[in-house]
Amino acid sequence: MSKFGGRGPCTCRRCVEENINDIHMFSTCPGLEEIWRDVSEILTGINGCNIKVNSLLILFGTENSANQQITPSLKRLIFYLILLARREICIINWTLPSPPTCQKWLYSVDRVANMDQKVCPRKRTVEMWSNYIGWRQSTN
Ligand SMILES: [Zn+2]
Repeated sequence: MSKFGGRGPCTCRRCVEENINDIHMFSTCPGLEEIWRDVSEILTGINGCNIKVNSLLILFGTENSANQQITPSLKRLIFYLILLARREICIINWTLPSPPTCQKWLYSVDRVANMDQKVCPRKRTVEMWSNYIGWRQSTN
């Protein structure tokens, strides 16, 4: 944890919390509250049903709601989107005084979506990204 610490070996850079763990760093830090709320809204928009971003989803990519609208394809998409959000928000930009914007995350998702469909243009992959791409086009 020391490489992420600002003032001490286990002090959060985004708030004053000491002795932080992975759950704090990735999920429960008050400094991340706003961006995870934005991520929730975006995932809800893409999926067309309410997606609540919580620690379980952030840490494991597991969408465990019993909502029947969430197909296996959407679950895979949520998994990838959360993985990229975690990477962009919590790892790459950890040393910034404030978290990055959702635009940075979405830019990263765009790149992965394009690359993934070129490298692996199977029906399963194309189907998974089509929900994201449709949403992206509707918001541009
Ligand atoms: Zn914190």
